Amino acid sequence: MPLHQGQQKPDTDRHSVNPFYGEANPVSGMVEAPPKHRLPDGPLPPTTALQLVHDELMLDGNSRLNLATFVTTWMEPQAGILMAECRDKNMIDKDEYPRTAELERRCVSMLADLWNAPDPSAAVGCSTTGSSEACMLAGMALKRRWAQRNADRYPGARPNLVMGVNVQVCWEKFCNFWEVEARQVPMEGDRFHLDPEAAAELCDENTIGVVGILGSTFDGSYEPIADLCAALDRLQERTGLDIPVHVDGASGAMVAPFIDEDLVWDFRLPRVSSINTSGHKYGLVYPGVGWALWRTAEELPEELVFRVNYLGGDMPTFALNFSRPGAQVVAQYYTFLRLGREGFRAVQQTTRDVARALAERVDCLGDFRLITRGDELPVFAFTTAPEVTTYDVFDVSRRMRENGWLLPAYTFPENRQDLSVLRVVCRNGFSSDLADLFIEDLSRLLPELRRQPHPLTHDKEAATSFHH
Ligand SMILES: *Cc1c(COP(=O)(O)O)cnc(C)c1O
Repeated sequence: MPLHQGQQKPDTDRHSVNPFYGEANPVSGMVEAPPKHRLPDGPLPPTTALQLVHDELMLDGNSRLNLATFVTTWMEPQAGILMAECRDKNMIDKDEYPRTAELERRCVSMLADLWNAPDPSAAVGCSTTGSSEACMLAGMALKRRWAQRNADRYPGARPNLVMGVNVQVCWEKFCNFWEVEARQVPMEGDRFHLDPEAAAELCDENTIGVVGILGSTFDGSYEPIADLCAALDRLQERTGLDIPVHVDGASGAMVAPFIDEDLVWDFRLPRVSSINTSGHKYGLVYPGVGWALWRTAEELPEELVFRVNYLGGDMPTFALNFSRPGAQVVAQYYTFLRLGREGFRAVQQTTRDVARALAERVDCLGDFRLITRGDELPVFAFTTAPEVTTYDVFDVSRRMRENGWLLPAYTFPENRQDLSVLRVVCRNGFSSDLADLFIEDLSRLLPELRRQPHPLTHDKEAATSFHH
């Protein structure tokens, strides 16, 4: 969360109330003008409080038009009913809510099967608040295993984790919080994600693992997980170093199993020791759920596991949080049950079809060059063609906002800082009808943008909306 500061100025900032906010008595809503930055002295009628909060939130924008986020913005009303029924259940109270705990357990076993764990009953896993927490847990397990193997040298030796420079910020957080050196493989030319050989070269006796990303957030491309494992196999033959791989499948682990069945990226690769996904991305659940799985209990050191009461016995847990809502886990189980493999395949294929068709149409406009085409994650990135000089991607992002679209523009990292792109994340609920409206709005802007004297967005940081 942003580290907010308290209000510095004297407290003159107050909500304004309207006489109609009072429920029975029209003027009762007017007696109070509650302060905004200090706890009001007295209570308000619920209708007034609701209206004040509701009105302020109107300016939040429409999440469905947010093409920057990977997070689910539409679910069926039935899922909403279940979530409302479970909003009072605390996920950690396994003893009090044993059926919720059971649904979580079933989700883990469905994922172990989906990701081809050699023995799904031996795989272990848990729900989390999202992939970030799942990655922290997976990273901790890697670090602890390395520390156990190197008890003679650690503390002392400095552990490192190898990854592409395109990793999501959670891996930089992990390395910072847990004091692990982040060794990043830079981008090179038209390679916008990790190179297996370059990753293997960065490994040494202090490497706790290598992260492969199924679905880079920068451009939606899949990292070559099987090639990465093969490069690490060769490293082991040469040097004896046996480096485990964690697959950050925040998005792709819920896409590839359904529509890229031939792609081998999961527990079928013996070197893959753990996998995470965001249930709230292509797992199709509203924000607040992720999953982390380990191939077997051996990959997750027992000393990291805490136990809570469960039906007279105890249940092992692995989490950073203690209390957490149960609703999202229940909604995940609902989604699994509701869609099944066939349903997931249909939904993800439709989303990919929308992404590919839209990428094609952006390409046809002539002003843009595609970086990716939506054929891996249903996500594509594009930049302006070399001959376009009167405007840039930041202008496009800023102008599309006038139509309500959140279309992020951002600059690539190290070695390709010359490249700035726009990115479209297609999700279930971004239909081909909405894609038509998007392309109409974009096409209508182009004549104006072409008439600009030069790119006009000075504050590129402000134009660069959130893009992870
Ligand atoms: C979104 C994402 C994350 C972080 O996931 P949250 O669920 O938002 O915490 C980590 N890695 C990748 C590759 C992502 O796409």
